[in-house]
Amino acid sequence: MANPVTSRIIRFLGNSSPSHMEVHDLHNEKSNCQIDEILRAKHAVGFRPDTLAQARSEGYDNCAYCIGGSTR
Ligand SMILES: [Zn+2]
Repeated sequence: MANPVTSRIIRFLGNSSPSHMEVHDLHNEKSNCQIDEILRAKHAVGFRPDTLAQARSEGYDNCAYCIGGSTR
């Protein structure tokens, strides 16, 4: 069965690494996002609903490359 994160059918992907805690917009993915690294480290998480607001409410900060407007 396809993993919704690795098959990228989701839009917003969180990096749950304690030192990162950032959310990426896969519709605007940049090489600097290093999404493959996040997947390899198994730090990728999805959100329900799949929205930026939900990611923010779970404590994730905006990625500076694909979203911008970091708040920290
Ligand atoms: Zn990003």
